[in-house]
Amino acid sequence: MQSQCIWTPFKVLTPLSFKPSSTFFTFSFSKQLLLPSKSIAAVSSARRAISSYPSLMASSPAGKDVVSTQNNSNQKTQQPLQHVAKRLEKFKTTIFTQMSSLAIKHGAINLGQGFPNFDGPEFVKEAAIQAIKDGKNQYARGYGVPDLSSAIAERFKKDTGLVVDPEKEITVTSGCTEAIAATMLGLINPGDEVILFAPFYDSYEATLSMAGAKIKCITLRPPDFSVPIDELKSAITQDTRAVLINTPHNPTGKMFTREELSTIASLCIENDVLVFTDEVYDKLAFEMDHISMASLPGMYERTVTLNSLGKTFSLTGWKIGWAIAPLHLTWGVRQAHSFLTFATSTPMQWAAAVALRAPESYYVELKRDYMAKKEILVEGLKAVGFKIFPSSGTYFVVVDHTPFGLENDVAFCEYLIKEVGVVAIPTSVFYLNPEDGKNLVRFTFCKDEGTLRAAVDRMKEKLKRK
Ligand code: GLN
Repeated sequence: MQSQCIWTPFKVLTPLSFKPSSTFFTFSFSKQLLLPSKSIAAVSSARRAISSYPSLMASSPAGKDVVSTQNNSNQKTQQPLQHVAKRLEKFKTTIFTQMSSLAIKHGAINLGQGFPNFDGPEFVKEAAIQAIKDGKNQYARGYGVPDLSSAIAERFKKDTGLVVDPEKEITVTSGCTEAIAATMLGLINPGDEVILFAPFYDSYEATLSMAGAKIKCITLRPPDFSVPIDELKSAITQDTRAVLINTPHNPTGKMFTREELSTIASLCIENDVLVFTDEVYDKLAFEMDHISMASLPGMYERTVTLNSLGKTFSLTGWKIGWAIAPLHLTWGVRQAHSFLTFATSTPMQWAAAVALRAPESYYVELKRDYMAKKEILVEGLKAVGFKIFPSSGTYFVVVDHTPFGLENDVAFCEYLIKEVGVVAIPTSVFYLNPEDGKNLVRFTFCKDEGTLRAAVDRMKEKLKRK
């Protein structure tokens, strides 16, 4: 994959004196200079910087196949001997897997990976049990159990006013992650240019790499992570195949405003560009109303809307997702889906249909509960001394960790796990240029109130401003 990033002016990565203190934290770091915007030099420097940014490296499976290698600074490090195709060789074990393993290993409170530590609603679980008992246990129709396709179409109409054909325009997948992969693999050709907004959810870059796409990246910057309109205008051209957006946005909690969406929409129409929109946090919109890109004038025809059950129903392990797109785009998505997973768990699809027909009161309550959790975490983090960036949606909040004197996000997260007993997610993994995320870490509030308070108490006690 070739990558290209629209860089801010010069970035100098200075050497850091990280001492790997466990097998989970081995890395090397060397001085790199990144040149400005769009040159090949910038691209290759960026790549070098990425490979040398400190990372939390997972151990090899079962501790086997470990070899010694020499890094840039002539130190011997343990490197797993792994075999992986070029399209995936730059990607490590996902940060979520790494951080959740570390949470268990160190007995730390996990405010890292975004999964609730409470259960989904009884009526949905009952529906799954009933479906299993009713013998709904063989392969589902490849693109989705008809009843679920209808429930998705009904929900989409309520949310956006758009009427879609459940038979022809909806594809049920194994979580939104598969819907993302099927969209990229089904609609992107090798060499196609796709625009991402950094920070971005890790699977976007990996699946685009599998599809052989050329990534162009626009960075959303704190404090409000708003879209830099002028950069966007020069980035979207006739050569662009697609723009990928995520609203509400993981990890920042930013929600794309109507103005931002309209600008993206008109640039996409003008240049005949597709939009892939990940809206899995649409029901966790707290500070403003969620707007679906597909509902903007002229956009349905060029948009793939991606969503899932997991976040809205606190059932992240069920892995039920979907893609909604006009027939001409659904064809590609379905072709990829057919050969990735073919079909998704049958009884869970039946139960998902019941879930999506929940009364509006369910969504109101969900939002109310999450607002209370958010308040506990945000107020707690403020009291601890973090600088907080306002989060409008999702169950995440991003903070600036620099008041505590650690050199970057990875070092901070390592300290937080080992010395404080709390897990957060370093955000540098969500950028093409990891330096852009070095001051930021992400906390989640999808945990019960006792857990959130306990995490805040640990931080109040042990985290001191420098
Ligand atoms: N979406 C979840 C998060 O951002 C992680 C899902 C995963 O582990 N792949 O925390």
